[in-house]
Amino acid sequence: MKTMKVSVVTPQGPIFEGNVEMVSARAVSGELGILPGHIPIVAPLTVGEVNIKHDGIVDHIAISGGFMEVHSNIVTILAEAAEMSTKIDVHRAEEARRRAERRLRDQKSHVDFKRAEWALKRAINRLEVEKHK
Ligand code: ATP
Repeated sequence: MKTMKVSVVTPQGPIFEGNVEMVSARAVSGELGILPGHIPIVAPLTVGEVNIKHDGIVDHIAISGGFMEVHSNIVTILAEAAEMSTKIDVHRAEEARRRAERRLRDQKSHVDFKRAEWALKRAINRLEVEKHK
């Protein structure tokens, strides 16, 4: 089976490295599916799920924005924050969701609104990805 090298890196360090059969990620332009031999690309990623198929399993990762580069059968995902589904703290994500929802209700400025909106997206994404563990 053909594979490609994938690493998912955060400011705290790598959270995944390995040879994989398939990667999907949510780019700003839409869902991207990457197979071995894909043409070189650089794509900005939005808050969403990255799925990595390898060794007969699929790993699910919550990504809070970043970039994906594909080049010479190497996929590098640089994420602002990323958690494997098994490492997601549900209680923390629920608290973050509640906080963001409250801020959206009590919004005082455009800046607060945008910030709360992204915090809500991150929390909902973590809760969705955690269900796949
Ligand atoms: P919170 O308000 O709970 O900090 P946040 O969305 O503002 O949520 P981020 O700034 O995106 O948090 O992330 C800060 C760090 O905390 C990152 O290393 C991220 O991986 C980690 N993190 C955030 N939420 C969770 C969670 N629910 N489970 C595990 N790790 C988390």
